[in-house]
Amino acid sequence: MSTSSPTIPPDIAAHVLFMFDRSGVVAQIVAADLVPTEFQRHLIRAIAHADCDTRDQLQEIFPEYVTAVAALKYDPDGMDRLKEIAALRCARCTGDDGPFTDLGMCEACARPMPLDGVA
Ligand SMILES: [Zn+2]
Repeated sequence: MSTSSPTIPPDIAAHVLFMFDRSGVVAQIVAADLVPTEFQRHLIRAIAHADCDTRDQLQEIFPEYVTAVAALKYDPDGMDRLKEIAALRCARCTGDDGPFTDLGMCEACARPMPLDGVA
């Protein structure tokens, strides 16, 4: 197994977050058109469930996916790191000014707007 970790590209960070995150990140990934393909979903699941030997083999072929899954599984800051790499934006206004709500929106977009338009 190689000792240096490859850099995780933004789209792969988004693919892995899509599979494991249970918050609004999924809405942001859909809005950013970064939803993983069927194959990528199976690959991420396979990496997550692989034993050490199998994961080492997958690392040879898909180093970025294995590194991203490992970051999420074993690094307590991995989720935040992947979100930073993916540079996700608000699902509504595409602004990058977090924090984001469970619906993947920035606080301004998530705030309920009065129906008559008067604040
Ligand atoms: Zn917004």
